Amino acid sequence: MSNVVAPESTPVWVDTSRCKACDVCVSVCPAGVLAMVPAPNSTLGSMIEVETPAACIGCRDCELHCPDFAIYVAERGEYKFARITDDAKQRAEDIKKNHYRKLSA
Ligand code: SF4
Ligand code: SF4
Repeated sequence: MSNVVAPESTPVWVDTSRCKACDVCVSVCPAGVLAMVPAPNSTLGSMIEVETPAACIGCRDCELHCPDFAIYVAERGEYKFARITDDAKQRAEDIKKNHYRKLSA
């Protein structure tokens, strides 16, 4: 649960001022929604980005595992989450193999 105001029509969002770019949320996301992108001014040179919000299934694994309380998931009644698909599972695997980095288009 966050004290950050939930953006409208958004399944998952990040407080980038808290994020330490640890990759944990990317590693647990089953749907390939999240990925790290280069961010030269951040602590570890990268930053989390919500890449494919429409694929979010609302499992909350990212929120529950984030050590810095930096990522938040909408309540079930506030957003109609997707169902997991084979494409989403494959994207999650591909991102993990890519060292949690955003896949090139
Ligand atoms: S788990 Fe939290 S701190 Fe780590 S990259 Fe994700 S949002 Fe940032
Ligand atoms: S709620 Fe689940 S599917 Fe959505 S971004 Fe977080 S870990 Fe991924």
